[in-house]
Parts: sequence; structure tokens; C-alpha cells
Amino acid sequence: MLEMKWIRAHAEEVQAAADGKKIKINIRTLLERDEERRALLQESEEGRRLRNTLSADIGRLMQAGNREQAEGLRAQVKQINEQLEQLEQVEAKLAPVQEEVTKLQWLVPNIVSPDTPKGTSDADNVELRRVGEVPTFEYNTKDHVELGELHDLIDIPRGVKIGGTRSYVLKGAGLLLHRAVQQLALDLLLKHGFTPMEVPLMVREDALVNTGFFPTGRDQVYELEGENKWLVGTSEVPLVSYYADEIVDVQEPVKLAAVSTCFRSEVGSGGRDVRGLYRVHQFAKVEQVILCAPDAEESERMLQEITGHAEELLQLLELPYRVVAVCTGDMSQKTYKQYDIETWMPSRGAYGETHSSSNLHDFQARRSNIRCLDAEGKLAYCHTLNNTAVASPRILIPLLENHQQEDGSIRIPAALRPYMGGAKSLILP
Ligand code: AMP
Repeated sequence: MLEMKWIRAHAEEVQAAADGKKIKINIRTLLERDEERRALLQESEEGRRLRNTLSADIGRLMQAGNREQAEGLRAQVKQINEQLEQLEQVEAKLAPVQEEVTKLQWLVPNIVSPDTPKGTSDADNVELRRVGEVPTFEYNTKDHVELGELHDLIDIPRGVKIGGTRSYVLKGAGLLLHRAVQQLALDLLLKHGFTPMEVPLMVREDALVNTGFFPTGRDQVYELEGENKWLVGTSEVPLVSYYADEIVDVQEPVKLAAVSTCFRSEVGSGGRDVRGLYRVHQFAKVEQVILCAPDAEESERMLQEITGHAEELLQLLELPYRVVAVCTGDMSQKTYKQYDIETWMPSRGAYGETHSSSNLHDFQARRSNIRCLDAEGKLAYCHTLNNTAVASPRILIPLLENHQQEDGSIRIPAALRPYMGGAKSLILP
């Protein structure tokens, strides 16, 4: 969590960030409760100190053993008993205050970068650039669900039969494409110096709290009943937690990548994006995570770099996309600065989010206690960043829809062909 000293020093900025991110917290109340907590703590510590001193005195008097001192001893014992009662009262008052402060502290959001656009929802995100030509089709096109059925790549009805709503089955070349985009993304990250990792996807509560997914996003995460473990919605959680409570050498940024299944309850999505593969409960993601020096310029450079990797992937897939600066109202508690990359999805007649690139500054590192040596050689919390490299099957939507041909075939972009046995296209069965 953010330390109280830090929160006190940045109170106005933190309150503005909370308001912008629509997090209900009153920083002034938190600071007042913390003052109260500190006063009670001091009182309790003084009480304990006095009790210990008196106990030591009694011991000495017992050893000496004359009458006068025995009288003194009785007075001392009385004082101790009174003191103990008072101490219990103070500690009884301290416990709930401490609990309230801790609860509020976990809710405190990260501040946002000065160049973050202000806004209330994704409609206020600011487009930074468009790359690639949006295709115009001179013939009737199909959406990914129709294409998936025609080519026997996607089976939604049977997916729902097995797994309920927002489930699917990928088959044949559908599964091969799903794996091909992941391998292409992983190979791209390996080329850029990332260490590939296989990480636990069933994690302890601490990992989710420390990385900023709990308490605010608790309802998005599936709990394994009776296990005291949760299924992650992204491998960002285990990748960042890998270094929890450690001191890390970030002279060179630490670059980690994982290919993982992600599980999301999508509570609150209601009837949104119910058709096809856009919003499902289980998907695969190749994730990039970076830990770097706690230097704003350095982590900004890293943000541009990981955003660039996602753009490189989309260019290899020959897909048109745009990059948007995410506004305050569309940001999560933990984020300092965020870009989303949205890829053109013909069936939506719009760009749809496929990647999310974030700089957390030291928010996650403070909560996870990940430290490094700063430029002056002092211990400091490092900066952490993350971005999708590819998330599938959502990426299959633009891939199938943008590359469909008049004869019903689907062109496979050159970069994917080595992962698809050299095939240049999927032809109708
Ligand atoms: P996030 O980790 O929430 O930033 O999401 C990263 C990417 O994962 C998104 O840009 C999507 O491509 C993908 N994604 C997130 N949630 C879902 C979902 N429920 N179904 C399918 N893909 C998703």
C-alpha cells in the first residue's frame, strides 16, 4: 500500500486521482484516522514501556527483601494493575482504528501522469495515432463468428454447452491460429530480451492485493473455494509478485514475459459484447512486464518500448490499429499512465481494444515491497510496467475479419505462415 508519509505529502494529488478514477475515498478522513491511530499507538507503547520498567523494579525489590521496600512494592503492583487496565482500554480502541486505516490505505489510488487526459469514460480517451489502412470491402463480408463456423474454426454453441455463457471451443486451424499468434508474440519478446516464464496462475491473496487487483477488482477474480487461492485474470500478477519482498538489480531493466491462461468473471459487463470471442471468461495472453529504476524518464521510455512491441506485433499481423491515451475515468486504481491499442474490427465498424500498456511507477513495488538501489545508491521502490503482447482469441476477430477474401478464404499474414505449416490462406472446407 502507499505509505502514510507519502500519502500525507501528496494528499491533494491523491484525492484528485481518486476523484478522477471514481474511487470513493476521502483522503482527509484517512489522514485524520491515521493521526488518531498514531496517538493511540504512542499511548499503548508508553504504557507497555512503563509496565516493563515497573516489573523490573519489582524484581529488584523482591531480591532485596526488607519491609520498607515491600510496602513500596505493593504500591508498585497497584500501579501496574491500573496501568494494565488502561493499556487494555487503549489497545481495544486502537484495533478498529488500525483496521479502518489499513482498509482505506489499500483503496488509495496511484496518482496520474501530468499528460493523462481528464475524462469520465473511454469516450474521453484521446487518439494519438492511427497506423495501417482500414480495409474497404467490395463484397459482402462476414463476422468472425460466421467465418469461424464456415471454416470450422470456432464452435460457440458447444463451448456454451460445456462452459456456460462467454465460452467457446477453438478447433483445427482455429486452435493453430490461436497458438501461432502467441508463439509469434513470444518470439518477438525473446528478440527484445525478455525472459520467458511459466508462473502460478492460482495465487494467494497477497499477490492480488500487492499488485493492485484487490480490493477494488475483487469481484472480477474467481476464487477457488476452500483453497484460499484465486485464479489470475492476467500473468502480470505472478510476474510482478515474483520479486515481492526482494531487492532487485535494475541497472538494466528486468524484462519478463509469460504465456498464460487468464480467467475473468466479467461481473458488471452485463449484456455487453455477448456475441463471439470479444469478451469471454477464459483466454490466453502473452504478457510483458518490466521492472526498472525508479526514474520517471526511464519508466516513460519503457512504456514507449512495450507499447512499440505490441505495435510491432500488429504490424506483423498486417492489422490496422490506433493508439489512445487512456483518460482518468477509464484508468484503474494502480495506473500512473496508460495507452490502449485498439485494432480495427470490421464487424464492429470500429477499433476494439486489443492491448493495454501501463506504467505503474512505484505503486505495485511499494505494495509488493520490491526494492532496488536508486541513482544515489539508496534503497528505493522500483517502477513496474506491463503490456499485452497478444491476447487471443480476441485478436482472432480482427485477424479473421480483416483478412477475409471474396472467395471466402482467409489470408494468413506472411509473419504467421511459419507457425501455420507455411499455409498462405485458410480455404473453405
Ligand atoms: P487487461 O489485462 O485488462 O489490460 O486486458 C488486456 C487484453 O486482454 C485486452 O486488451 C484484451 O485484448 C484481452 N482481454 C481482456 N479481457 C478479456 C475478455 N474478457 N475476453 C477476451 N479478451 C480479453
